[in-house]
Amino acid sequence: MRAQLPRVARRALSTARVETALASLAEGMARPMTDIEVVSGAGSYITSSDGERLLDFTCGIGVTNTGHCHPRVVAAAQAQMGKLMHGQVSIGMTSPLVALTNRMLGNDGSGRGSLLPASHDRLMFSTTGAEAVENAVRLARAATGKPNLIVMQGGYHGRTIGTLALTRSKVSYGVRNHPQMPGVFVAPFPYDTQSPGIDADGSLYQLELLLKQQTAPSDTAAVIVEPVLGEGGYVPPPRGWLQGLRALCDAHGLLLVFDEVQSGFGRTGKLWAHQHAEGVEPDVLVMAKGIASGLPLSAISSRAELTRAVPPGAMGGTYAANPVACAAALATLDVFEEEDLVGNAAARGEQLLGGLRALVAEHDDGVLKEARGVGLMVGLEFGRDAPAGTAAALSRACRRRGLLLLTTSVFETLRFIPPLNVSAAEVDTALSIVGNALREVVATAAADDAAAEAAA
Ligand code: PMP
Repeated sequence: MRAQLPRVARRALSTARVETALASLAEGMARPMTDIEVVSGAGSYITSSDGERLLDFTCGIGVTNTGHCHPRVVAAAQAQMGKLMHGQVSIGMTSPLVALTNRMLGNDGSGRGSLLPASHDRLMFSTTGAEAVENAVRLARAATGKPNLIVMQGGYHGRTIGTLALTRSKVSYGVRNHPQMPGVFVAPFPYDTQSPGIDADGSLYQLELLLKQQTAPSDTAAVIVEPVLGEGGYVPPPRGWLQGLRALCDAHGLLLVFDEVQSGFGRTGKLWAHQHAEGVEPDVLVMAKGIASGLPLSAISSRAELTRAVPPGAMGGTYAANPVACAAALATLDVFEEEDLVGNAAARGEQLLGGLRALVAEHDDGVLKEARGVGLMVGLEFGRDAPAGTAAALSRACRRRGLLLLTTSVFETLRFIPPLNVSAAEVDTALSIVGNALREVVATAAADDAAAEAAA
Protein backbone atom coordinates (compact mmCIF):
# COMPACT_ATOMS: atom_id res chain seq x y z
CA MET A 1 0.00 0.00 0.00
CA ARG A 2 1.30 3.47 -0.85
CA ALA A 3 2.01 5.56 2.22
CA GLN A 4 -0.08 8.71 2.33
CA LEU A 5 1.72 12.05 2.48
CA PRO A 6 1.23 14.03 5.69
CA ARG A 7 -1.70 16.44 5.61
CA VAL A 8 0.43 19.61 5.43
CA ALA A 9 2.21 18.23 2.39
CA ARG A 10 -1.09 17.24 0.75
CA ARG A 11 -2.44 20.75 1.43
CA ALA A 12 0.70 22.32 -0.08
CA LEU A 13 0.30 20.24 -3.24
CA SER A 14 -3.40 20.96 -3.59
CA THR A 15 -2.82 24.67 -2.93
CA ALA A 16 -0.28 24.76 -5.74
CA ARG A 17 -2.68 22.97 -8.12
CA VAL A 18 -5.55 25.26 -7.16
CA GLU A 19 -3.41 28.37 -7.60
CA THR A 20 -2.26 27.25 -11.05
CA ALA A 21 -5.84 26.64 -12.17
CA LEU A 22 -7.10 29.87 -10.61
CA ALA A 23 -4.43 31.87 -12.39
CA SER A 24 -5.81 30.50 -15.67
CA LEU A 25 -9.44 31.30 -14.97
CA ALA A 26 -10.69 34.54 -16.47
CA GLU A 27 -10.66 37.33 -13.92
CA GLY A 28 -14.40 37.80 -14.30
CA MET A 29 -15.10 34.45 -12.65
CA ALA A 30 -15.75 34.72 -8.92
CA ARG A 31 -12.72 33.97 -6.73
CA PRO A 32 -13.42 31.27 -4.12
CA MET A 33 -13.68 32.17 -0.45
CA THR A 34 -11.38 29.26 0.47
CA ASP A 35 -8.16 27.90 -1.04
CA ILE A 36 -9.24 24.27 -0.74
CA GLU A 37 -9.81 21.76 -3.50
CA VAL A 38 -13.27 20.37 -2.84
CA VAL A 39 -13.49 16.68 -3.60
CA SER A 40 -16.70 15.50 -2.01
CA GLY A 41 -19.74 16.46 -0.06
CA ALA A 42 -22.12 14.51 2.17
CA GLY A 43 -25.06 16.01 4.00
CA SER A 44 -24.05 19.28 5.65
CA TYR A 45 -20.30 18.79 5.09
CA ILE A 46 -17.82 19.15 2.26
CA THR A 47 -14.38 17.55 2.27
CA SER A 48 -11.18 18.89 0.73
CA SER A 49 -8.49 16.90 -1.06
CA ASP A 50 -6.36 16.88 2.10
CA GLY A 51 -9.19 15.53 4.20
CA GLU A 52 -10.44 18.69 5.93
CA ARG A 53 -14.19 18.57 6.63
CA LEU A 54 -16.10 21.84 6.64
CA LEU A 55 -19.63 22.44 7.88
CA ASP A 56 -21.26 23.98 4.83
CA PHE A 57 -23.82 26.67 5.61
CA THR A 58 -23.59 28.01 2.06
CA CYS A 59 -25.21 25.09 0.22
CA GLY A 60 -23.46 26.22 -2.96
CA ILE A 61 -25.53 29.42 -2.63
CA GLY A 62 -28.80 27.83 -1.68
CA VAL A 63 -28.77 24.87 -4.04
CA THR A 64 -28.11 21.66 -2.11
CA ASN A 65 -31.31 21.87 -0.06
CA THR A 66 -31.36 18.08 0.43
CA GLY A 67 -27.74 18.19 1.63
CA HIS A 68 -24.71 17.29 -0.45
CA CYS A 69 -25.13 14.11 -2.49
CA HIS A 70 -28.32 12.87 -0.86
CA PRO A 71 -28.18 9.10 -1.58
CA ARG A 72 -31.73 9.08 -2.94
CA VAL A 73 -31.01 11.92 -5.39
CA VAL A 74 -27.66 10.41 -6.40
CA ALA A 75 -29.27 7.02 -7.07
CA ALA A 76 -32.02 8.58 -9.20
CA ALA A 77 -29.52 10.63 -11.23
CA GLN A 78 -27.19 7.63 -11.67
CA ALA A 79 -30.04 5.39 -12.78
CA GLN A 80 -31.19 8.00 -15.29
CA MET A 81 -27.61 8.47 -16.56
CA GLY A 82 -27.59 4.78 -17.53
CA LYS A 83 -30.79 5.18 -19.52
CA LEU A 84 -30.71 8.58 -21.20
CA MET A 85 -28.43 11.52 -20.44
CA HIS A 86 -29.82 14.01 -22.90
CA GLY A 87 -33.11 14.24 -24.70
CA GLN A 88 -34.02 17.40 -26.52
CA VAL A 89 -37.62 18.52 -26.01
CA SER A 90 -38.06 19.22 -29.72
CA ILE A 91 -37.41 15.54 -30.40
CA GLY A 92 -39.43 13.85 -27.70
CA MET A 93 -40.66 14.30 -24.14
CA THR A 94 -38.37 12.25 -21.89
CA SER A 95 -39.93 10.12 -19.13
CA PRO A 96 -38.44 12.24 -16.31
CA LEU A 97 -39.78 15.42 -17.93
CA VAL A 98 -43.24 13.88 -18.26
CA ALA A 99 -43.18 12.68 -14.65
CA LEU A 100 -41.85 15.96 -13.24
CA THR A 101 -44.33 18.13 -15.15
CA ASN A 102 -47.26 15.98 -14.07
CA ARG A 103 -46.03 15.82 -10.48
CA MET A 104 -45.48 19.56 -10.17
CA LEU A 105 -48.91 20.35 -11.54
CA GLY A 106 -50.65 17.64 -9.51
CA ASN A 107 -51.57 15.60 -12.61
CA ASP A 108 -49.65 12.41 -11.79
CA GLY A 109 -52.64 10.57 -10.37
CA SER A 110 -51.13 10.43 -6.88
CA GLY A 111 -53.68 12.85 -5.48
CA ARG A 112 -50.89 14.98 -4.02
CA GLY A 113 -52.05 18.20 -5.64
CA SER A 114 -50.11 20.90 -7.41
CA LEU A 115 -46.89 22.38 -6.01
CA LEU A 116 -47.54 25.64 -7.81
CA PRO A 117 -49.81 28.63 -7.15
CA ALA A 118 -53.44 27.48 -7.54
CA SER A 119 -54.13 29.38 -10.77
CA HIS A 120 -50.92 28.19 -12.49
CA ASP A 121 -51.40 25.57 -15.15
CA ARG A 122 -48.27 25.97 -17.28
CA LEU A 123 -44.56 25.28 -16.76
CA MET A 124 -41.59 26.30 -18.88
CA PHE A 125 -38.26 24.62 -18.08
CA SER A 126 -34.79 26.04 -18.61
CA THR A 127 -31.31 25.53 -17.20
CA THR A 128 -30.24 28.44 -14.98
CA GLY A 129 -31.95 30.97 -12.75
CA ALA A 130 -31.05 33.89 -14.99
CA GLU A 131 -32.44 32.10 -18.03
CA ALA A 132 -35.72 31.50 -16.20
CA VAL A 133 -35.88 35.19 -15.19
CA GLU A 134 -35.34 36.18 -18.81
CA ASN A 135 -38.15 33.85 -19.84
CA ALA A 136 -40.39 35.49 -17.22
CA VAL A 137 -39.56 38.91 -18.70
CA ARG A 138 -40.25 37.71 -22.22
CA LEU A 139 -43.54 36.17 -21.13
CA ALA A 140 -44.60 39.34 -19.29
CA ARG A 141 -43.80 41.52 -22.31
CA ALA A 142 -45.49 39.19 -24.80
CA ALA A 143 -48.59 38.69 -22.65
CA THR A 144 -49.13 42.38 -21.85
CA GLY A 145 -47.76 43.91 -25.04
CA LYS A 146 -45.92 46.41 -22.79
CA PRO A 147 -42.15 46.90 -22.53
CA ASN A 148 -41.13 48.31 -19.12
CA LEU A 149 -40.28 46.52 -15.91
CA ILE A 150 -40.07 47.55 -12.27
CA VAL A 151 -37.56 45.91 -9.93
CA MET A 152 -36.52 46.53 -6.33
CA GLN A 153 -33.42 48.28 -5.11
CA GLY A 154 -31.12 45.57 -3.77
CA GLY A 155 -32.76 42.90 -5.95
CA TYR A 156 -30.74 40.22 -7.71
CA HIS A 157 -31.96 38.40 -10.80
CA GLY A 158 -28.82 37.21 -12.60
CA ARG A 159 -25.80 38.37 -14.54
CA THR A 160 -26.70 37.79 -18.19
CA ILE A 161 -27.02 40.82 -20.47
CA GLY A 162 -30.78 40.92 -19.84
CA THR A 163 -30.90 40.14 -16.14
CA LEU A 164 -27.98 42.45 -15.35
CA ALA A 165 -30.36 45.34 -15.94
CA LEU A 166 -32.73 43.91 -13.33
CA THR A 167 -30.01 43.25 -10.75
CA ARG A 168 -29.64 46.16 -8.32
CA SER A 169 -27.70 44.66 -5.43
CA LYS A 170 -24.11 45.61 -6.37
CA VAL A 171 -22.57 47.75 -9.12
CA SER A 172 -19.67 45.32 -9.42
CA TYR A 173 -21.74 42.88 -11.52
CA GLY A 174 -22.29 45.45 -14.24
CA VAL A 175 -19.01 47.34 -14.26
CA ARG A 176 -17.89 48.10 -17.83
CA ASN A 177 -21.15 46.68 -19.16
CA HIS A 178 -23.20 49.76 -19.80
CA PRO A 179 -25.56 50.78 -21.20
CA GLN A 180 -27.81 48.03 -19.89
CA MET A 181 -31.18 46.88 -21.23
CA PRO A 182 -33.45 49.94 -21.15
CA GLY A 183 -36.96 50.15 -19.70
CA VAL A 184 -36.09 49.05 -16.16
CA PHE A 185 -37.24 51.20 -13.22
CA VAL A 186 -36.29 50.77 -9.59
CA ALA A 187 -38.47 51.07 -6.47
CA PRO A 188 -37.27 50.91 -2.85
CA PHE A 189 -37.56 47.57 -1.06
CA PRO A 190 -38.74 48.20 2.52
CA TYR A 191 -35.38 47.62 4.20
CA ASP A 192 -34.29 50.35 6.60
CA THR A 193 -30.50 50.00 6.21
CA GLN A 194 -30.89 50.56 2.47
CA SER A 195 -33.89 52.90 2.45
CA PRO A 196 -34.04 54.57 5.88
CA GLY A 197 -37.56 55.45 6.96
CA ILE A 198 -39.24 53.49 4.16
CA ASP A 199 -41.62 50.88 5.51
CA ALA A 200 -44.17 48.77 3.64
CA ASP A 201 -46.49 51.74 3.03
CA GLY A 202 -43.59 53.99 2.06
CA SER A 203 -42.35 51.50 -0.50
CA LEU A 204 -45.83 51.11 -2.02
CA TYR A 205 -46.22 54.90 -2.10
CA GLN A 206 -42.92 55.22 -3.99
CA LEU A 207 -44.14 52.60 -6.44
CA GLU A 208 -47.34 54.57 -7.05
CA LEU A 209 -45.20 57.67 -7.67
CA LEU A 210 -42.96 55.74 -10.04
CA LEU A 211 -46.06 54.88 -12.08
CA LYS A 212 -47.06 58.56 -12.12
CA GLN A 213 -43.64 60.13 -12.67
CA GLN A 214 -41.43 57.68 -14.54
CA THR A 215 -43.16 54.76 -16.24
CA ALA A 216 -46.88 54.84 -16.99
CA PRO A 217 -48.89 51.69 -16.24
CA SER A 218 -49.72 51.59 -19.96
CA ASP A 219 -45.98 51.16 -20.66
CA THR A 220 -45.23 48.79 -17.76
CA ALA A 221 -45.45 45.01 -18.09
CA ALA A 222 -44.51 43.74 -14.65
CA VAL A 223 -43.09 44.20 -11.19
CA ILE A 224 -40.37 41.63 -10.50
CA VAL A 225 -39.49 40.96 -6.86
CA GLU A 226 -37.87 38.44 -4.60
CA PRO A 227 -40.36 37.66 -1.80
CA VAL A 228 -37.33 37.61 0.53
CA LEU A 229 -34.49 39.85 -0.65
CA GLY A 230 -31.56 37.48 -1.25
CA GLU A 231 -28.25 38.79 -2.57
CA GLY A 232 -29.41 42.21 -1.35
CA GLY A 233 -29.14 41.18 2.31
CA TYR A 234 -31.48 38.33 3.29
CA VAL A 235 -34.31 40.64 4.21
CA PRO A 236 -37.88 39.41 4.66
CA PRO A 237 -40.35 42.17 3.78
CA PRO A 238 -42.66 43.60 6.45
CA ARG A 239 -46.11 42.05 6.83
CA GLY A 240 -48.64 43.25 4.31
CA TRP A 241 -46.10 44.41 1.72
CA LEU A 242 -46.57 41.53 -0.71
CA GLN A 243 -50.36 41.88 -0.39
CA GLY A 244 -49.95 45.61 -1.09
CA LEU A 245 -47.85 44.84 -4.15
CA ARG A 246 -50.46 42.41 -5.42
CA ALA A 247 -53.22 45.01 -5.00
CA LEU A 248 -51.10 47.70 -6.70
CA CYS A 249 -50.36 45.44 -9.68
CA ASP A 250 -54.06 44.54 -10.02
CA ALA A 251 -55.11 48.18 -9.80
CA HIS A 252 -52.71 49.20 -12.59
CA GLY A 253 -52.88 46.13 -14.83
CA LEU A 254 -49.30 45.00 -14.15
CA LEU A 255 -48.13 41.42 -13.83
CA LEU A 256 -46.48 40.38 -10.57
CA VAL A 257 -43.43 38.15 -10.98
CA PHE A 258 -41.94 36.44 -7.94
CA ASP A 259 -38.32 35.42 -8.36
CA GLU A 260 -38.05 32.51 -5.92
CA VAL A 261 -34.76 31.23 -7.31
CA GLN A 262 -33.13 31.62 -3.86
CA SER A 263 -36.14 31.77 -1.52
CA GLY A 264 -38.01 28.83 -3.06
CA PHE A 265 -38.08 25.10 -2.71
CA GLY A 266 -38.61 24.93 1.02
CA ARG A 267 -35.85 27.33 2.00
CA THR A 268 -38.09 29.53 4.16
CA GLY A 269 -40.05 26.77 5.90
CA LYS A 270 -42.80 26.82 3.26
CA LEU A 271 -42.40 25.45 -0.26
CA TRP A 272 -42.49 29.04 -1.58
CA ALA A 273 -41.57 32.13 0.43
CA HIS A 274 -44.60 34.04 -0.87
CA GLN A 275 -46.85 31.55 0.95
CA HIS A 276 -45.92 33.37 4.16
CA ALA A 277 -48.04 36.24 2.81
CA GLU A 278 -51.56 34.92 2.94
CA GLY A 279 -53.69 35.19 -0.16
CA VAL A 280 -50.93 36.38 -2.47
CA GLU A 281 -50.18 34.64 -5.75
CA PRO A 282 -47.80 35.79 -8.46
CA ASP A 283 -48.72 35.83 -12.13
CA VAL A 284 -45.35 34.28 -12.88
CA LEU A 285 -43.21 32.25 -10.47
CA VAL A 286 -39.50 31.77 -11.17
CA MET A 287 -37.67 28.78 -9.65
CA ALA A 288 -34.20 27.19 -9.88
CA LYS A 289 -31.35 26.34 -7.43
CA GLY A 290 -32.85 23.85 -4.90
CA ILE A 291 -35.25 22.31 -7.43
CA ALA A 292 -32.82 19.53 -8.51
CA SER A 293 -30.38 19.43 -5.55
CA GLY A 294 -27.49 20.69 -7.67
CA LEU A 295 -28.17 19.63 -11.23
CA PRO A 296 -28.89 22.57 -13.50
CA LEU A 297 -32.65 23.01 -13.82
CA SER A 298 -34.89 26.05 -13.66
CA ALA A 299 -38.46 26.86 -14.57
CA ILE A 300 -41.21 29.43 -14.60
CA SER A 301 -44.84 28.70 -13.94
CA SER A 302 -47.83 30.75 -14.99
CA ARG A 303 -51.33 30.63 -16.48
CA ALA A 304 -52.25 29.52 -19.99
CA GLU A 305 -53.96 32.84 -20.71
CA LEU A 306 -50.49 34.45 -20.39
CA THR A 307 -48.19 31.72 -21.72
CA ARG A 308 -50.28 31.45 -24.89
CA ALA A 309 -48.78 34.77 -26.00
CA VAL A 310 -45.40 33.15 -26.69
CA PRO A 311 -45.36 30.95 -29.82
CA PRO A 312 -43.92 27.40 -29.65
CA GLY A 313 -40.14 27.29 -29.86
CA ALA A 314 -39.68 31.01 -29.16
CA MET A 315 -38.22 30.17 -25.73
CA GLY A 316 -35.89 27.32 -25.00
CA GLY A 317 -32.39 25.96 -24.94
CA THR A 318 -30.58 22.79 -25.93
CA TYR A 319 -30.35 21.52 -22.36
CA ALA A 320 -33.73 22.70 -21.05
CA ALA A 321 -35.40 20.00 -18.93
CA ASN A 322 -32.40 17.68 -19.11
CA PRO A 323 -33.64 14.19 -18.12
CA VAL A 324 -30.95 13.63 -15.45
CA ALA A 325 -31.81 16.98 -13.86
CA CYS A 326 -35.54 16.15 -14.02
CA ALA A 327 -34.88 12.73 -12.40
CA ALA A 328 -32.91 14.49 -9.65
CA ALA A 329 -35.79 16.95 -9.18
CA LEU A 330 -38.28 14.09 -8.79
CA ALA A 331 -36.04 12.43 -6.20
CA THR A 332 -35.62 15.78 -4.47
CA LEU A 333 -39.41 16.01 -4.13
CA ASP A 334 -39.48 12.46 -2.69
CA VAL A 335 -36.86 13.43 -0.09
CA PHE A 336 -38.83 16.59 0.75
CA GLU A 337 -41.89 14.46 1.47
CA GLU A 338 -40.23 11.53 3.23
CA GLU A 339 -37.99 13.63 5.47
CA ASP A 340 -40.35 16.59 5.92
CA LEU A 341 -37.64 19.00 4.84
CA VAL A 342 -39.98 21.97 4.77
CA GLY A 343 -41.00 21.31 8.38
CA ASN A 344 -37.36 20.85 9.39
CA ALA A 345 -36.43 24.12 7.68
CA ALA A 346 -39.02 25.92 9.81
CA ALA A 347 -37.90 24.24 13.06
CA ARG A 348 -34.14 24.54 12.50
CA GLY A 349 -34.68 28.09 11.25
CA GLU A 350 -36.23 29.05 14.57
CA GLN A 351 -33.35 27.42 16.42
CA LEU A 352 -30.78 29.24 14.28
CA LEU A 353 -32.50 32.62 14.47
CA GLY A 354 -33.00 32.25 18.23
CA GLY A 355 -29.30 31.49 18.71
CA LEU A 356 -28.20 34.41 16.54
CA ARG A 357 -30.58 36.79 18.33
CA ALA A 358 -28.98 35.71 21.61
CA LEU A 359 -25.60 36.64 20.11
CA VAL A 360 -26.91 40.05 19.08
CA ALA A 361 -28.09 40.59 22.67
CA GLU A 362 -24.76 39.40 24.10
CA HIS A 363 -22.76 42.14 22.39
CA ASP A 364 -22.68 45.86 23.12
CA ASP A 365 -25.39 47.98 21.60
CA GLY A 366 -24.74 48.59 17.94
CA VAL A 367 -22.09 45.92 17.28
CA LEU A 368 -24.70 43.85 15.54
CA LYS A 369 -27.78 45.46 14.04
CA GLU A 370 -29.95 42.36 13.91
CA ALA A 371 -30.46 38.71 13.07
CA ARG A 372 -33.43 38.22 10.74
CA GLY A 373 -34.90 35.65 8.43
CA VAL A 374 -37.55 33.12 7.60
CA GLY A 375 -36.91 29.40 7.91
CA LEU A 376 -33.34 28.67 6.86
CA MET A 377 -32.85 31.93 4.95
CA VAL A 378 -31.20 33.87 7.75
CA GLY A 379 -29.07 37.03 7.77
CA LEU A 380 -26.89 38.58 10.46
CA GLU A 381 -26.15 42.27 9.94
CA PHE A 382 -23.50 44.29 11.74
CA GLY A 383 -24.25 47.76 13.08
CA ARG A 384 -23.95 50.86 10.90
CA ASP A 385 -20.49 51.76 12.24
CA ALA A 386 -18.88 48.42 11.46
CA PRO A 387 -15.90 49.03 9.16
CA ALA A 388 -16.07 47.66 5.62
CA GLY A 389 -14.88 44.06 5.64
CA THR A 390 -16.20 43.15 9.11
CA ALA A 391 -18.63 40.54 7.77
CA ALA A 392 -15.88 39.04 5.59
CA ALA A 393 -13.59 38.93 8.65
CA LEU A 394 -16.27 37.01 10.56
CA SER A 395 -16.68 34.63 7.63
CA ARG A 396 -12.90 33.98 7.64
CA ALA A 397 -12.86 33.48 11.41
CA CYS A 398 -15.68 30.92 11.03
CA ARG A 399 -13.84 29.17 8.21
CA ARG A 400 -10.75 28.78 10.42
CA ARG A 401 -13.04 27.01 12.90
CA GLY A 402 -14.55 24.74 10.23
CA LEU A 403 -17.75 26.55 9.22
CA LEU A 404 -18.44 28.01 5.77
CA LEU A 405 -20.60 31.14 5.68
CA LEU A 406 -21.16 33.60 2.83
CA THR A 407 -21.51 37.34 3.13
CA THR A 408 -24.26 39.12 1.22
CA SER A 409 -25.14 42.62 -0.08
CA VAL A 410 -23.15 45.85 0.09
CA PHE A 411 -23.89 46.03 3.82
CA GLU A 412 -21.90 44.17 6.49
CA THR A 413 -24.08 41.06 6.47
CA LEU A 414 -23.61 37.30 6.64
CA ARG A 415 -26.10 34.78 5.35
CA PHE A 416 -26.88 31.36 6.73
CA ILE A 417 -28.12 28.85 4.11
CA PRO A 418 -27.69 25.35 5.56
CA PRO A 419 -29.31 22.34 3.90
CA LEU A 420 -32.96 21.90 4.81
CA ASN A 421 -32.17 18.58 6.51
CA VAL A 422 -29.51 20.12 8.76
CA SER A 423 -29.65 18.59 12.24
CA ALA A 424 -30.22 20.41 15.53
CA ALA A 425 -26.68 19.40 16.59
CA GLU A 426 -25.17 20.89 13.42
CA VAL A 427 -27.05 24.15 14.00
CA ASP A 428 -25.69 24.20 17.58
CA THR A 429 -22.16 23.58 16.27
CA ALA A 430 -22.54 26.47 13.81
CA LEU A 431 -23.90 28.77 16.51
CA SER A 432 -21.03 27.98 18.84
CA ILE A 433 -18.47 28.60 16.04
CA VAL A 434 -20.11 31.91 15.08
CA GLY A 435 -20.19 32.96 18.74
CA ASN A 436 -16.47 32.29 19.21
CA ALA A 437 -15.53 33.81 15.86
CA LEU A 438 -17.56 36.91 16.63
CA ARG A 439 -15.83 37.35 20.00
CA GLU A 440 -12.49 37.15 18.16
CA VAL A 441 -13.54 39.70 15.51
CA VAL A 442 -14.92 42.10 18.12
CA ALA A 443 -11.79 41.76 20.30
CA THR A 444 -9.50 42.33 17.28
CA ALA A 445 -11.48 45.43 16.29
CA ALA A 446 -11.24 46.76 19.87
CA ALA A 447 -7.47 46.11 19.96
CA ASP A 448 -7.05 47.87 16.57
CA ASP A 449 -9.01 50.87 17.87
CA ALA A 450 -6.87 51.02 21.02
CA ALA A 451 -3.66 50.83 18.96
CA ALA A 452 -4.88 53.59 16.63
CA GLU A 453 -5.77 55.79 19.61
CA ALA A 454 -2.38 55.20 21.25
CA ALA A 455 -0.62 56.09 17.99
CA ALA A 456 -2.66 59.28 17.54
N1 PMP B 1 -32.59 35.19 -9.06
C1 PMP B 1 -32.22 35.09 -7.78
C2 PMP B 1 -33.15 35.57 -6.72
C3 PMP B 1 -30.97 34.55 -7.44
O1 PMP B 1 -30.60 34.48 -6.15
C4 PMP B 1 -30.13 34.07 -8.47
C5 PMP B 1 -28.77 33.46 -8.18
N2 PMP B 1 -28.14 33.86 -7.04
C6 PMP B 1 -30.56 34.20 -9.80
C7 PMP B 1 -31.80 34.74 -10.06
C8 PMP B 1 -29.70 33.74 -10.95
O2 PMP B 1 -29.60 32.35 -10.96
P1 PMP B 1 -28.40 31.64 -11.75
O3 PMP B 1 -27.14 32.00 -11.05
O4 PMP B 1 -28.73 30.19 -11.71
O5 PMP B 1 -28.43 32.19 -13.13
